[in-house]
Amino acid sequence: MLSTMQDVPLLISRILTHGSTIHGTSQVVTWTGEGEPQRRSYAEIGARAAQLAHALREDLGVTGDERVATLMWNNAEHVEAYFAIPSMGAVLHTLNLRLPPEQLAWIVNHAADRVVLVNGSLIPLLAPLLPHLKTVEHVVVSGPGDRSALAGVTARVHEYEELIAGQPVAYDWPELDERAAAAMCYTSGTTGDPKGVVYSHRSIYLHSMQVNMAQSMGLTDEDTSLVVVPQFHVNAWGLPHATFMTGVNMLMPDRFLQPAPLAEMIESERPTHAAAVPTIWQGLLAELTARPRDVSALTQVTIGGSACPPSLMEAFDKLGMRVCHAWGMTETSPLGTIARPPASAVGTESEFAYRLTQGRFPAGVEARLTGPGGERLPWDGESAGELEVRGAWIAGAYYNGPGAEPLRPADKFSEDGWLKTGDVGTISPDGFLTLTDRAKDVIKSGGEWISSVELENALMAHPDVAEAAVVAVPDDKWGERPLATVVLKEGSTADFDTLRAFLQEEGRIAKWQLPERWTVIESVPKTSVGKFDKKVLRRRYAEGTLD
Ligand code: ADP
Repeated sequence: MLSTMQDVPLLISRILTHGSTIHGTSQVVTWTGEGEPQRRSYAEIGARAAQLAHALREDLGVTGDERVATLMWNNAEHVEAYFAIPSMGAVLHTLNLRLPPEQLAWIVNHAADRVVLVNGSLIPLLAPLLPHLKTVEHVVVSGPGDRSALAGVTARVHEYEELIAGQPVAYDWPELDERAAAAMCYTSGTTGDPKGVVYSHRSIYLHSMQVNMAQSMGLTDEDTSLVVVPQFHVNAWGLPHATFMTGVNMLMPDRFLQPAPLAEMIESERPTHAAAVPTIWQGLLAELTARPRDVSALTQVTIGGSACPPSLMEAFDKLGMRVCHAWGMTETSPLGTIARPPASAVGTESEFAYRLTQGRFPAGVEARLTGPGGERLPWDGESAGELEVRGAWIAGAYYNGPGAEPLRPADKFSEDGWLKTGDVGTISPDGFLTLTDRAKDVIKSGGEWISSVELENALMAHPDVAEAAVVAVPDDKWGERPLATVVLKEGSTADFDTLRAFLQEEGRIAKWQLPERWTVIESVPKTSVGKFDKKVLRRRYAEGTLD
């Protein structure tokens, strides 16, 4: 028997229409680096998104599900593109501007992007790539920046503001299939070749509702969210869509992602929420320690993308910025878990421990743990296995080029269609995930696993350690042993014996897990999205293939 309910497709255009009317006075504030920030209401964003869609369709000839790429910082124009492109039926392809140029070109060609929207400040990155971009016919430039490098390129170059000026401020958005492609994002390639994940209207809609739940980020129109996590990194964790559902104001840092301007915008624009990866917050913490500011408005900070070191959580708590830890990946839209402690733990000693976990699975994300032999492991908080997930906003395959069948590699998807995350961890009986490592980062020492993350967190808790990354190095006797690479704070006098002794204090780390090999480095290499790049460290120290 079928239901008697209306079958209304869950479309991005509906989120746009809702946000730009019901929450028309909410704002996207974009930092400009000098003077007043740019302020644009949701109503204006809605009107300009309609104008952009008209320009793309009528002037640039974008039809069907053609890909329109963005090479942009977080700003109001990028939000307009976020809504205009999928709402008209095309596919928004966000490009990660921190990728090596060859990888970027590969991705653009793979997705067959026809149009690239670019920020003026990023022309130096795009211009030399253009001769290698086989399908790009139009480049649309917005914001400040020297245009001269685009003179003489084959693609047609347009100014964003000129292109949308005079276009109608309403668009008759088509009734699309909610399962149609809305946006795509390539994984950052930490684990090999970039792979394209294609989100549907439906998956984005449902994911946004999840982001808005009280046990998730739970923001309202009283909030302003500082969206530091880039719009090219898994849709800025779903924030632009989620905020349009609820009228949360967005504060966009554009290209000003350094600790000093971030501290300045927090002080002057007083966001109540912020989201970014731990490395950004480590930088901000150092800045706030050196030059204290009034950050009293900022009470909720979502941290994800890599494990939040306990020391960072404690330091932020002291500043009144309560950290909420979350886990996810490009393939999971990304919100897979979020660490709000259960009511029974609030106010008790176990509350902090709950907050340090990667978090609890929300309704809509099913999880299971698989052991090395393919066996299902119990949710007992102790059995560690590879995490597999399934749900309406979880990828079931990768994009494989125009017209081609999607890819379902066996190391990424189980036979019954679950996503193999490549993350190793435990799940407690009440559904809290604790990641112990990435499958490829755990140190396999004499048949036992040593968690690199645990060692890193313990090291980073030492007051003289700014950053620490631990990788496996080959060992004749044990197979693999940990090597600790440590970045010391300025003026620190700590030596390796002191750090070893520290790791052993209070039973932080078991004796057999202590690293024998140590090295001081200037900084931990980072990936394009600011995570520790252990591939580089492994090449340098374990394989000896990099100087
Ligand atoms: P890539 O896989 O290319 O690094 P993603 O941004 O999709 O790109 O990264 C997802 C991965 O990041 C997860 O599989 C996990 O290993 C790691 N990760 C994300 N959030 C957390 C977290 N809170 N704690 C630990 N690891 C995390």
